[in-house]
Amino acid sequence: MVKIAVLGCGLMGIKIAGELAYHGHRVKIYDHNINSLNSTYERIEEDKKALREGGLMTHKNFVGQILCMSRLEETVNDAEFILEAVIDDMEVKKALFEKVAQCCPPEAIITTNSLRLDVSAIAEKSRKPSRTMGLRFLYPVYYIPEVEITPNKYTSAVAIEKVRVLLEQMGKTLFFRSGDEPLILTEEQREERKKARFDQIKNTSGLGLMLQGMIPALHHKGNVQPVQDDEDYVPSMNDSERDCAICMDHKRDSLLCPCHHMVTCNDCAKLLLNRRDGCPICRKEIAEIIKVYHS
Ligand SMILES: [Zn+2]
Ligand SMILES: [Zn+2]
Repeated sequence: MVKIAVLGCGLMGIKIAGELAYHGHRVKIYDHNINSLNSTYERIEEDKKALREGGLMTHKNFVGQILCMSRLEETVNDAEFILEAVIDDMEVKKALFEKVAQCCPPEAIITTNSLRLDVSAIAEKSRKPSRTMGLRFLYPVYYIPEVEITPNKYTSAVAIEKVRVLLEQMGKTLFFRSGDEPLILTEEQREERKKARFDQIKNTSGLGLMLQGMIPALHHKGNVQPVQDDEDYVPSMNDSERDCAICMDHKRDSLLCPCHHMVTCNDCAKLLLNRRDGCPICRKEIAEIIKVYHS
């Protein structure tokens, strides 16, 4: 499980976040537009449904969790990778890179999904430009293995290697842009890639692309197999996933009501309630908080 932040709840941001969670990563997705953020949960549910119908997913939920965040700092403060997917506007991206670099961990890798902008210019004001690069997922993200990487003039080999490892574990293939034009697949190529991806997944465990060793053990008593089509299927969590999604300092111990999601500590739950922010999972309004005492 890797901690990843996705910036921007647009079409690509949602697909990228979903694909990462599908592969078991913990994803925080951020947007300053509250309406986009509020529709995230629903749009992800639609994608899950399409994946199940397409046979790419046999269980109800992604293995990883997606948290919707309304504050940039809380989104990137524990991220190992930060994938920016906001509108293709130089000024917007530059400003975002500058701000992110100020509040993310110093070793975090920051990438931009830009199609045509100069990735060196985007990273210019970033505090650690050697950890930045262009990284463009191709639409539709779930089915296309290729991910385009565009190092900028500052990008270090170590940063590229980290991204390569992350993506290859997800069955993705990195390619470098040749020439000036970005790769845009034709409808025919998309269909062909989709079929190849489907065959690749069918040949694995049936749990999507969860390769051997990546399938987390279930903590349910007596349950030796992942539950299929089970409404209550909750992927097991490792220790870092039991930490509060917002402060990461305290354990998760507060149920948000009425939705009953538990992703924060009591202090942060109160913080969300006070600033009238929604539940980080489903964005439902929080009416009440119930503190849970672990035995
Ligand atoms: Zn907290
Ligand atoms: Zn909720």
